[in-house]
Amino acid sequence: MSKILDEFLKSNLNDLKDNGLYNEINVVSGANGAVINVEGQELINLSSNNYLGLATNEKLKEVAKSAVDSHGVGAGAVRTINGTLDLHVELEETLARFKGTEAAVAFQSGFNCNMAAIQAVMNKEDAILSDELNHASIIDGCRLSRAKIIRVNHSDMDDLRKKAKEAVESGLYKKVMYITDGVFSMDGDVAKLPEIVEIAKEFDLITYVDDAHGSGVMGKGAGTVKHFGLEKDIDLQMGTLSKAIGVVGGYVAGTQDLIDYLKVAARPFLFSTALTPGDTRAITEAVNMLMASTELHDRLWENGNYLKDGLKSLGFNIGSSETPITPCIIGDEKTTQTFSRRLMEEGVYAKSIVFPTVARGTGRVRNMPTASHTKEMLDEALSIYEKVGRELNVIS
Ligand code: PMP
Repeated sequence: MSKILDEFLKSNLNDLKDNGLYNEINVVSGANGAVINVEGQELINLSSNNYLGLATNEKLKEVAKSAVDSHGVGAGAVRTINGTLDLHVELEETLARFKGTEAAVAFQSGFNCNMAAIQAVMNKEDAILSDELNHASIIDGCRLSRAKIIRVNHSDMDDLRKKAKEAVESGLYKKVMYITDGVFSMDGDVAKLPEIVEIAKEFDLITYVDDAHGSGVMGKGAGTVKHFGLEKDIDLQMGTLSKAIGVVGGYVAGTQDLIDYLKVAARPFLFSTALTPGDTRAITEAVNMLMASTELHDRLWENGNYLKDGLKSLGFNIGSSETPITPCIIGDEKTTQTFSRRLMEEGVYAKSIVFPTVARGTGRVRNMPTASHTKEMLDEALSIYEKVGRELNVIS
């Protein structure tokens, strides 16, 4: 191995470990449901993004298997060569109906979708106003576009208006975009979309919402944009198919022209093999299920509220979440990691999230209740939280 690389790796790994920032990755055996087997231990799972429990849904498993039988295990090529399957077309028509737009295009992951779409639409003559708490894939997509990136204070509409005005009136940029998460994944708060749309109209900003954590959760399942009735006002509705939808992938929904353009300009669409037949069919079925019934969505919210009320009444700081995402903010990184490890030893799998995923000093254990949890599971989790919270003096 190169000596320089060896030194670089060792010094970085040691620094992370010394500062309590090195995240151990656990191995899960079997299905990722409300209860999971982590290295031989059965745990109540409060760590997944499987909001509606669809990752283990029987009907979805059945349709995925039948798509493998009819279409094979892989798409065979990138979409533009011969990888566009009838199943992809069916999925994209379904996604457009789900999102209330003219059209949609699917990508292989949510991360790669942000890299694809931002870079396709924006370039070095443009500027992107970006909420400071936006997801890493948005940050990377913005960097890749080579547009000027202007950070906007989190959900601060005065700061957005001021910076939008400056950017537009400077005359330096051809296009200006505002990009935001719909639901912020670390705190569970919701973007102020009605005010954002108002400002965007005033300054002709392009609007881009990453609704990875809003789809299936907000707007009776249809997402944050639909929650506010703004389907005609948000230019790019992006989302993942890996969280509430339970499978894998990402999409952008918008006008037919936008989608036609992404299909000729978005590099991961042009140069990376398409979603597999099994995944594609399962996603379409999942989206159809969400459009047909709000039962799973309603159960998710019921469980989310139950867990939140329980943790709050035990005295934990659960921040300002407006969604089922329930952070328990501990602060110090090392205590946060000890807290999570002790929860795991007692039977709850809720991972610590520390810098650089969140700001230094705001370490947290993030709880993601799902539609599949029972009240008994949540009660057991709460009593474990109480025990560990007292032991580590996080609650009195
Ligand atoms: N955007 C946001 C806001 C996310 O939270 C995530 C996943 N953590 C992604 C994009 C990437 O999605 P995926 O995991 O489907 O690649």
